[in-house]
Amino acid sequence: NAYSVKSNNHLTDVIDASSGSGSGLLLLVKRTIAKQIQMEKLVGKGRYGEVWLANWKGENVAVKVFVTTEEASWFRETEIYRSVLMRHENILAFIAADIKGTGMWTQMLLITEYHELGSLHDYLKTTAVDPSALLTLAFSAASGLSHLHTEIFGTQGKQAIAHRDIKSKNILVKRNRECAIADFGLAVRYKSETNEIDIAANTRVGTRRYMAPEVLDESIDTKLFDAFKSADMYSMGLVFWEMCRRCATTRGSDKWNMQAEDYALPYHDVVPSDPSFEDMYEVVCIRKLRPVIPPRWNENEVLRTLSNLMQECWHQNPAARLTSLRVKKSLCKLKGDTGIKII
Ligand code: ADP
Ligand code: MG
Ligand code: MG
Repeated sequence: NAYSVKSNNHLTDVIDASSGSGSGLLLLVKRTIAKQIQMEKLVGKGRYGEVWLANWKGENVAVKVFVTTEEASWFRETEIYRSVLMRHENILAFIAADIKGTGMWTQMLLITEYHELGSLHDYLKTTAVDPSALLTLAFSAASGLSHLHTEIFGTQGKQAIAHRDIKSKNILVKRNRECAIADFGLAVRYKSETNEIDIAANTRVGTRRYMAPEVLDESIDTKLFDAFKSADMYSMGLVFWEMCRRCATTRGSDKWNMQAEDYALPYHDVVPSDPSFEDMYEVVCIRKLRPVIPPRWNENEVLRTLSNLMQECWHQNPAARLTSLRVKKSLCKLKGDTGIKII
């Protein structure tokens, strides 16, 4: 079960059949997955490397290629995906991890399922949804986060995991229009039995625009695991706001007169692009601003419910925020009340 990375000059396998979130696609991988992959199209590029659509044994897969300096991030993300009981329909499905090349040319790969609709950010930019589709997006995102946050007891138990970089670019949209949470490079795990967080959790990591007030002002108690879950909830509240803007509703009785707000990033109207800590601190901690809720949202039950939920997620006081399970349950109830089917 150990990582045999760098144990020889060639490629080395990093997964085995018996542990972690073994994949349906692949059970036992011995060496050179990297050699069997044909890269096809670049689909994402960030500080940590690139994400490619690739073909592997006739299947479309996503391959995240980490730059050499991001070895720690690759290692961490792989480790998180290999956690027991990580597999869930609203969490990006891990397939394999591998190392490609030798010496100077080493590349670290993370292979996952590929989702052609891309990130929620990209999806919302080009697509307006109806209230039923909005509910599916929000409920599935809450379900994924709730699974992540929940510790499951028992012999094959699951550790609680906090994501620490929740944002619309780190959530993918599946073909059935449900969300899958991705990008676990900053996640932390926790076991209540030992009351320990598995890595020294440095503060102020993640994406500044989505950072909770207690992360920005560094008042977060990093010894308490719940603090990281609360910070995730703040960020998820902002993501709900991004979703709601793109939900089209009819105006008055004219069913052809649909309206929605344009896509926007949270705080687009009060901070510059790539905001600094100081920019965000000023807005979120000092002025205590939050995204504006348009009056339109009060006229539809799904939008109205989500407006209330998001405000309870981005509360200044972390202890007053809703939990992911609470959000999931409220949205499940809404589905029952409105007769909207969540597929
Ligand atoms: P980083 O750690 O560099 O931010 P991510 O894992 O967040 O990398 O991926 C970067 C981007 O690549 C995402 O925002 C998304 O647009 C795209 N992407 C990542 N994984 C997939 C996937 N499995 N299917 C489709 N697109 C993906
Ligand atoms: Mg990312
Ligand atoms: Mg990342």
